[in-house]
Parts: sequence; C-alpha cells; structure tokens
Amino acid sequence: MPPPDAPRDDAAMSGVILASTIICPICRTSKIEDMPSDACQHFYDCTGCGAVLKPKPGDC
Ligand SMILES: [Zn+2]
Repeated sequence: MPPPDAPRDDAAMSGVILASTIICPICRTSKIEDMPSDACQHFYDCTGCGAVLKPKPGDC
C-alpha cells in the first residue's frame, strides 16, 4: 500500500485541480487550462481572437 501522503490520481476529484482560468485581456474570452508542471513556460492561444497569452512570471 502507498503511504497516505503519496500523490494520488484522484486528488483532482477532491478539489485539488491544477487548472487555471485564463481570461484574454483583449477580447475577454475565458478559458480553463490545465496547468502543467512547466506552466511558467506555457503559452495559451486565445480561442476568441487568436492572441497568444503568457502567464505572469509571479504566477508560478
Ligand atoms: Zn482574445
């Protein structure tokens, strides 16, 4: 059996979700993105206007 504090796949089912709502500053289209461990280097394409959004440096 794994230790109780081991990371579990079902953590996402209990409210701990690595996701972030991105809102385009240009067209206000909101979009929920999964946040990978390398989120600092992740870019988002706006589905509304096509702008490429970059997470703020302080977000990680
Ligand atoms: Zn946009």
